[in-house]
Amino acid sequence: MKILFAASEAGPFIRTGGLGDVAAALPKAFKALGHDVRVVIPYYKLEIPAQFQNLMSYEGSTFVDLSWRRQYCGVFKAVYEGITYYFIDNEYYFKRNGLYGHFDDGERFAFFSKAILESMPIMDFVPDIIHANDWQTALVPVFLDCFYRYSKEYQMIKTVFTIHNIEFQGKYNKCLIDDILGLPFGAGSLVEDSDCANFMKGGIESAARVTTVSETYAQELMHPFYSFGLDPILSSRRFKLRGVLNGIDTKLYDPMTDKALFKNYSFDTIEDKAENKKGLCEMLDLPYSPDKPIIGMVTRLTEQKGMDLVAAVIEEILAANLQFVVLGTGDWKYEEMLRDLERRYPTKVRTIIKFSQDIASKIYAGSDMFLMPSKFEPCGLSQMIAMRYGSIPIVRETGGLKDTVIPYDAETGIGRGFTFKTYNSYDMLDAVWRAFGTFRDKKKWNAVVSNAMSADFGWLNSAKRYIEIFKEI
Ligand code: ADP
Repeated sequence: MKILFAASEAGPFIRTGGLGDVAAALPKAFKALGHDVRVVIPYYKLEIPAQFQNLMSYEGSTFVDLSWRRQYCGVFKAVYEGITYYFIDNEYYFKRNGLYGHFDDGERFAFFSKAILESMPIMDFVPDIIHANDWQTALVPVFLDCFYRYSKEYQMIKTVFTIHNIEFQGKYNKCLIDDILGLPFGAGSLVEDSDCANFMKGGIESAARVTTVSETYAQELMHPFYSFGLDPILSSRRFKLRGVLNGIDTKLYDPMTDKALFKNYSFDTIEDKAENKKGLCEMLDLPYSPDKPIIGMVTRLTEQKGMDLVAAVIEEILAANLQFVVLGTGDWKYEEMLRDLERRYPTKVRTIIKFSQDIASKIYAGSDMFLMPSKFEPCGLSQMIAMRYGSIPIVRETGGLKDTVIPYDAETGIGRGFTFKTYNSYDMLDAVWRAFGTFRDKKKWNAVVSNAMSADFGWLNSAKRYIEIFKEI
């Protein structure tokens, strides 16, 4: 099968979060199953590291019409680890600092979505499936139906749209529908929602299948608490909605080979995990004690990630004999709260406000527990990475957290983590104490660590499920 995977970011070229991880790993899994997969992302000239830009070659250029605009569109290509990547070039739209958050993001990603379709002749690749991801590429199925279906090469292309996080929908003033998208008369309703232009709604309407990144999240999206206003449309389009759990790149996230670690280890050499705890403490100038559990967090510091719950009970947690290490960036109020904690608990808390893969790995390896009390979590990669590194997740039972973290049951010995249901700080605290209690019983704790580290979070099963869906359509 020929698959064009469209996204606004893809590791290792450029990534800001989970989507970049998925775009790095899922295409590899499609390839491993024998499919011809290519990936297309914008050419962020100021953001993609030079070593990757050096791999690119210029393939050609064309123009993309956005209503009355006619915009240049260059196509660059790079082959990396056997996969072909295309980069859509337009310096006005993409030669900027940062990927998102510009005043004209709607126009930028409408351009990108249409440019993908327009540049297919330059790529010399007519896919069977275009797999669009999140709001930035949600207009691909819309533009395909509205502008390209008449042409023979495009007639048989089927589209799948994956929602990685419904919070970000690409919602703009309605005037954008005429002024930028330039959709034909009558087609505007595809993207119109609550008197706004809503890109994600367009993807849901037009794609042949809509998927999201866990079974539980697919069900949760039917409810207003989780859907950010899209539950009516998703409920009525339920027939095409599927949940497919993400995996993680098990080669990249492997404590046996991860170069960032102080000492590599597996479950068979789990004693060496202590070297990482020691190393982490030394690096952060924290007193080291094997008996004191370190609770780690590697996260965006936002409400979604449950930072409100953490803020509410962190003082009670810190009253116990443990340490707390957080790596993250995000809302100023949480950054300040965590900086303040570090000031007041200098032997117990470390707050690192930056994005660093290197430090992230050191925390996954050096911590005993990994806190992720998300309000909602479409899939979540961090908890899977944590389990692979033997850091036991403490999570709320939502979305992918529910589907990946089987709660530990001391009676049966089954389970990989500690969970709570209600979005309530004292329920979270209870889960922390359960983890803390189990940590003191080394035999039981080792059993949980063994369960967590032996779980299969590879991409192959997910890729097979996507292929089934592609075949369905
Ligand atoms: P989301 O995509 O909602 O942020 P996920 O759990 O799906 O959450 O993916 C987060 C990914 O980003 C994980 O690989 C995690 O390790 C990484 N990450 C998050 N914050 C940081 C940070 N400050 N530094 C390094 N990596 C981070």
